Amino acid sequence: MNQDCFQRPPSVGTYDLLTVVIAAYNEAESLPLIQPRLTRVLDGLSAQAGIDGRVLYIDDGSSDATWTVLQALAASDARVSLLRLSRNFGKEAALTAGLDRVERGAALILDADGQDPPELIPEFVARWREGYDDVHGTRVERDGEGWLKRGTAHVFYRMIGRLSKTPIPADTGDFRLLSPRALAALRQLRERHRFMKGLFGWVGYNRIAVPYHRESRVAGSTKFNFWKLWNFAIEGITSFSTAPLRLATYLGLMTAAVAFGYALWIVMKALLWGDRVAGWPTMMAVILFLGGVQLIALGLIGEYLGRLYSEAKQRPLYLVDSWLPAGGVSSDQA
Ligand code: UDP
Ligand code: MG
Repeated sequence: MNQDCFQRPPSVGTYDLLTVVIAAYNEAESLPLIQPRLTRVLDGLSAQAGIDGRVLYIDDGSSDATWTVLQALAASDARVSLLRLSRNFGKEAALTAGLDRVERGAALILDADGQDPPELIPEFVARWREGYDDVHGTRVERDGEGWLKRGTAHVFYRMIGRLSKTPIPADTGDFRLLSPRALAALRQLRERHRFMKGLFGWVGYNRIAVPYHRESRVAGSTKFNFWKLWNFAIEGITSFSTAPLRLATYLGLMTAAVAFGYALWIVMKALLWGDRVAGWPTMMAVILFLGGVQLIALGLIGEYLGRLYSEAKQRPLYLVDSWLPAGGVSSDQA
């Protein structure tokens, strides 16, 4: 481990507690496969590093047996706590709900489907102990995902990287460890449209990437279809960049300049050679083109306005159905 160039920040806190936060939506099949792997890793951590490991599952309004499976897991392991949301709020809100419940120590975000190998947790912890606040897994390879998903993901990460002023590392998902102070900072960001990758980047502090090989799902199927991913990408871009608005301005300026030149040309032509009232196709083309440009610009403004609207409503980010703290009694309060 390279410890030579490292200086421990003063306010990092203690290094004795780690909560693994897992959002699960219809993962009844994968959960029983992932929990034993996690247990082994946590046992190892407590034996070798003296770290008290906990697991917090968030049932994001699953419609399958996920909650029953989770209750069984919690009953057999006192380190497991459970949170159930009132409906499906989406992964970003589910993770927020989980991170809100981590009161002490660091948090590590893991997918429920085994795509982020729990066996890497000790490496993340080692980096945390070196003084890093945001240790994120960066995928060097992805298994079991088609070329379309890999290709579009590749383009998306490059695009958002260029558009956003906040650093958003490429090929980095939610698999990451957050130190207590990074966690505290993240908790202050209460925006409704949550693009977590961007929020992590906004927080800053000492960040480091851990390269890893993203495996296939252990069971079940992906919850993100193409349409959901498309919306996710729009969310990311509009939450972390106003470049599209500026683009609309430039597009408008450019069109206006071209239109001005064209108008000059038409007037000149009419003066020199007379006006023969031809050019209906040209006129239609120009009108349609300008109409299209205007609609695009309006749509773009609408995207931002819509987000402003939902922020203005100040609704809670999620609602809790039940909360079962580790080894404790259940409660129905948020
Ligand atoms: N997930 C969630 N709520 C949702 C969709 C997904 O909590 O509405 C969880 C899901 O259970 C999994 C993680 O988010 O633990 C990643 O989802 P998935 O594996 O479907 O995404 P992919 O890995 O294909 O991008
Ligand atoms: Mg997955």
